[in-house]
Amino acid sequence: MSRPIINIGSINIDYVYRVPHFVQPGETLASQTLSKGLGGKGANQSVAIAAAGGHVQHVGQVHQSDVWAVEQLTAAGVGTDAIQLSSEASGHAIIQVDDAGENAIVLHGGANQTLKPDTVSSVLTQHSEAACLLLQNECNLLADSFAIAHELGVAVVLNPAPMTQDIIDLPLHLLDTLIVNQGEAQGLTGEIAIDDVVRTLRDRLPNTRLVITLGAQGALLAHSGKILECAAEHVTAVDTTGAGDTFVGYFLAGVVAGLSDQDSLARACLASAIAVTRSGAISSIPTLDELSRYKN
Ligand code: ADP
Repeated sequence: MSRPIINIGSINIDYVYRVPHFVQPGETLASQTLSKGLGGKGANQSVAIAAAGGHVQHVGQVHQSDVWAVEQLTAAGVGTDAIQLSSEASGHAIIQVDDAGENAIVLHGGANQTLKPDTVSSVLTQHSEAACLLLQNECNLLADSFAIAHELGVAVVLNPAPMTQDIIDLPLHLLDTLIVNQGEAQGLTGEIAIDDVVRTLRDRLPNTRLVITLGAQGALLAHSGKILECAAEHVTAVDTTGAGDTFVGYFLAGVVAGLSDQDSLARACLASAIAVTRSGAISSIPTLDELSRYKN
C-alpha cells in the first residue's frame, strides 16, 4: 500500500431543501423535499483519494450524534481513526435549490472550526512518514497545520477552497503542491488572463507544483520549467458539485502511487468529468474500475 495522505479536512452534513423560490425576508416557506447527506470539501476529497486506490487518514471532527458520518467515511475506505467526536454541532450546509436549479447556501462551520492544536500536532507527529498533508480552507488551524507539517518535513498540498483573503498571508512558497480552480487562481494573483495567472504564480512559487483546473477546459500543471496540459473529456454536465474535489483526490492519489504528473492529470480529468455527469458530490465520485470501463 502507498504511504498515507493525511487530510485535515471538513466533514459537513448537507441538508438540501427543494423550494419553489428562495425564501424571502420575513417569509416562511414550505420545502417540497429534504435530502440529507455527507459532504464538505475535506470529506469529499478523502473519499476521492480512497476511490482512486489511495491510502488516506482523515483528521476532523463531527458532533457525537453524527457517528453515521464517520461510519460512511470508513465504508468508503477512508481511515477514520483520527476523526474525533465533539460536543460542538457538526459543520452543516442548509442548501435551498429552487425550480430553476439555482442554489443558495448557509454554511455553519461548527466542529470543523474547533480542531485542537494538540490533535493536529499529535497526528502529524505519529504520521511523519506520510506522503503529504492535504489541506483545504474549511477548517481552523490552517496556518498551524502548515507550520507543523513543514517542521516535520511532511510535504504540504493546499487546495485553498473556498478562497479567502487570509490564504495570501500563508507561506505559500513552502508548498509542495497548490491545486486551485480558475477563480481561486485569479483571486490569489489579482490577474485575469490565464497566462498572466500562471506567470505570476510561477514567479511567486518557483518550487511548487502548480495545478490549475479550468472547468470544461480541463486542467494544466506547471512545475520545474514545464507546463503540462490536459483537455477535459467531452461529457454532458448534469451537476458540477464536487468536480474539483474529485479532481484533487484523484490527482493526489495518482502522484503518491508513483504515476507521472501527466498521467495523474489525465486520470484526475477523466474522474472529474465522470463526476459532472452525475448529481451529488460524494455520490458522483467514480471508482477506478469505472474509469477503466469508461475508456474501453
Ligand atoms: P471546481 O469544481 O473547483 O470549480 P473546476 O470547475 O475547474 O473546479 O472542475 C474541476 C475539474 O472537473 C476540471 O479540471 C475538469 O477536469 C472537470 N470538469 C469540470 N467541469 C467539466 C465539464 N463541463 N466537462 C468535463 N469536465 C469537467
